[in-house]
Amino acid sequence: MFESVGECRSESRPPPHRTKVFGYTATELRDRYGSTSGMRWIEVDGRRMAIHLTSVPSGRRVPVLKAMLTTACERDCRYCIFYAGRDFQRITFKPEELARTYHDIHRAGLVDGLFLSSGIFAGGTNTQNHMLDMAEILRHKLRYRGYLHLKIMPGAERGQVLQAMQLADRVSVNLEAPNSKRLACLAPTKDFSNELLRPLRWIEEIRREAPPKQGWGGRWPSSTTQFVVGAAGESDLEILTTVAQLNQSFSLSRAYFEAFTPVQGTPLENHPAEDPLRQHRLYQASYLLRDYGFDLEDLPFTIERHLPIHIDPKLAYAQTTLSETPVEINRAEREKLLRVPGIGPRGAEAIIHSRQHGSLRQLSDLRKIGVLAERAAPYITLNGKRPPQQLTLL
Ligand code: SF4
Repeated sequence: MFESVGECRSESRPPPHRTKVFGYTATELRDRYGSTSGMRWIEVDGRRMAIHLTSVPSGRRVPVLKAMLTTACERDCRYCIFYAGRDFQRITFKPEELARTYHDIHRAGLVDGLFLSSGIFAGGTNTQNHMLDMAEILRHKLRYRGYLHLKIMPGAERGQVLQAMQLADRVSVNLEAPNSKRLACLAPTKDFSNELLRPLRWIEEIRREAPPKQGWGGRWPSSTTQFVVGAAGESDLEILTTVAQLNQSFSLSRAYFEAFTPVQGTPLENHPAEDPLRQHRLYQASYLLRDYGFDLEDLPFTIERHLPIHIDPKLAYAQTTLSETPVEINRAEREKLLRVPGIGPRGAEAIIHSRQHGSLRQLSDLRKIGVLAERAAPYITLNGKRPPQQLTLL
């Protein structure tokens, strides 16, 4: 049972019946909360849980319930809605209660997956134990086979990380900041190296050292992290340097970026919100590092070590690098094709495949195979000739 302390309000009523969620049958629940498309909140009896459309490791986008085992937290992350000193009513689930609630919501057809996180309560190890209890109940008692993403708590032990990897399709450790100096501005009681980087290292070690058949469904889960952007004075270069290192050393599947928004009642409530466009540029740059063969040196950082905010980083790279030395579509290797705006990994494959059946002569040939031909036009040649120039979109 998840103990309740301090501001945490323990729920005393018994777990819902198998066929009901908070007293609603599956049909009543579906009628009440509608279809499974889009993102929305479920709020029943004062408990609020978000449903997001999320890309799962298979590539499918599915509605995933984001649930907290408890919104009580003993840590003082200065940006966080669950900041220990913030005055609001905390909610705590017992592991079995949340497992059964989620299972019923899933059976009602409202969600296809669960992302389980938690505030930290009586230490990261203790909190992780409760999360693992919940995941065990879901997997082994309720025989849930669907998507499960488990957060690794700061302070979790190696054995707990292994156990999480034997239950989940994805695990994550949120770094929040690119290095210890920046983290100290955001979360003074979190230890960057020991509590956050170390579990990410363990995840990779376990994947390398133990056979995948030990993982859930016969494979090891993917791993992700998240950064809060714009609250610690960090540069884009700092963030992307860390992302590049994580990609390389820890086989990170994906980094998430969250533009900072001030939360009332936290120490950063008067700190300005970050421009969401910066978050978007960081995503674009991280995909270039992960999927397009770009190195940090290829990215167009400004003198302030940020990405230019008003232009796609790939387009900025092409304008300075490819305008005078365009890429010959009928001869370039995949790596070079991927440098061209409008050509992604699928487009590059399609070009290489098409070339086996004859040369690509005009922009319409590129359009037919899914390339954004107008976007690519200023930076390519087709059999040595520059195609007609079109308006370049940012
Ligand atoms: S540990 Fe997590 S839940 Fe707790 S204050 Fe920090 S970010 Fe928020």
